[in-house]
Formats: sequence, C-alpha cells, structure tokens
Amino acid sequence: MSTPTPRIRSLLRQANKVAEVGKKAAAAKLFQEILDEAPDTVEAWLGLAENTTDPAGQQAAYEQALALAPDNVVALTALGRPVPAELLAAAAEAEAAAAAAAEADAAAQIQEAAVEEEELLYVCYRHPDRKTNLKCYNCSRPICIKCANRTPVGYLCPDCKRDMEEAFFTANIVDYIAAGLVAFILGLIGGYLTQFLGFFVIFLAAGGGTLIGRISFRAARRHRGRWLPHTVMLMVILGGVLPMLPLLLGLFVGSFPIGSLIWAGVYLFLTPSAAFWQVK
Ligand SMILES: [Zn+2]
Ligand SMILES: [Zn+2]
Repeated sequence: MSTPTPRIRSLLRQANKVAEVGKKAAAAKLFQEILDEAPDTVEAWLGLAENTTDPAGQQAAYEQALALAPDNVVALTALGRPVPAELLAAAAEAEAAAAAAAEADAAAQIQEAAVEEEELLYVCYRHPDRKTNLKCYNCSRPICIKCANRTPVGYLCPDCKRDMEEAFFTANIVDYIAAGLVAFILGLIGGYLTQFLGFFVIFLAAGGGTLIGRISFRAARRHRGRWLPHTVMLMVILGGVLPMLPLLLGLFVGSFPIGSLIWAGVYLFLTPSAAFWQVK
C-alpha cells in the first residue's frame, strides 16, 4: 500500500462527495477510474465495493482492499471475516478522532465566517438598509457615511453630537429672558437713534449690533444656547422697529420719505445680524 498522491486524494474527495449524495453508479465509475490510475488505493477499492451494484464485483473489491491492507476493519467486516478485538478498538478510536477533527474544522469555519461578517457588515443604526464600516467614536454604534459627523477625533453619530451640544449649551430660561430683554432695550435705543443719524447709520449699524450682542451675552452670564442667538436677533429687530413705527405706518397714508426708510432698513438689516454672531 502506498500513500495516495495529491491528485488521487483530490479524485477520492470528489468520488466520496458523489457517493454521499447517493449517486452510487456515478461514484462507482469515479472510484474505478481512480483504480485504473492507481490500483493500490485501498480507499478507492472500499469506495467501489460500497457503491457497485454487482455483488460479485463488490466481493472482489473488498478482497482487493484486504489484500492491500490486511487489517482493514471495514473490509474484514464486509467479508464476514473475524476481526481482532484490538483492531476494532483502533478503528473506533480512529473514527472518533476523525469525527472530532471534522467538528473542530466546522467550528473553525463558523468562527472564520463570523469574523468576516464583523469586518464587512456593520449596518447603520439609523438606516438598517445601509452597510458601513464606520462607527461612532463615542458610543461605538455603526453609522453610515450620511449620519457620520467627521470630527478631529473620529466620526460622531447624530445622537452623540446632540448630547455634546446640549452639554455645550448651558443657557437656561433666565439667561434667555435676560439676554432677550437687554437686546430689546438696546435695539429700541438704536432704532430711536437711527432716525437722527441718517447717513451715518451705514458706519454705526454693524458696530452697534456687535455691542448689543456682547452686552446681551453678558446678560446671559456668558452662557450659550442653541436658540439664544436667534432670540437676541429677534429682540433687536422688535426693539428697533418700535421707534420706526410712525415712519412705517406713514407708508399707508402715502408718506414716502425715501432717505429715512433706507437708513431704517440698513439698521434693521445690519444690527440684528451683527448681534447674532456675538452670541453664537
Ligand atoms: Zn454615538
Ligand atoms: Zn445612517
């Protein structure tokens, strides 16, 4: 008996697969082809014996196997020969070892597949249909590229981004009221002064807005809020519009002082937005 070459081993695997799915005639043919090439292959003789439909051929095949391997338990059993006890024990041991090896192999394959899955197949926690390799650096949940906010330290998911902003926004209702009130009063004063400044509004409106914004920010105890800039801006507009009401209402009765309207517009455009950026 000689050790099968890699080519013969590969052919044996194919023949065994065909036999496993029950195609006996095809399997017998494959085993016969292997034997034509390598007549001293014990496993091929056993395969041929198990798959052939010809009883005489079966007996002959088992005998050939036995001639090559006198201790072969399968052939001895099939031919009704006595099997020494130590051979049976060895055969049982070999079978158990083969089963354990197969099991370990299957487990390794499952593990390999799991690792592969982990590397390739995150799914965005907000979009179950989107696969991704990105994870939020804060909560480690997978996020798709659309949900990911790139930061200097990594990608951040929308939930964590909002949480961090909330931590950044510390202004409470008192701060909002204080800043809004200050912005309203200063906006009112600015709107009142605008009527007398005329052309000089162009130079003073933005600076005035910056000043209003800074004072409003102090009124909010330098706390920031998501909507604080908007609140300040709105209150500057409301305060600024009040002194201009007679001017604006005059439009309805046909009064159209073009110069005053332009300066009022410049104030209402530049001052609130300048204030906005000081509180942001
Ligand atoms: Zn997160
Ligand atoms: Zn997403």
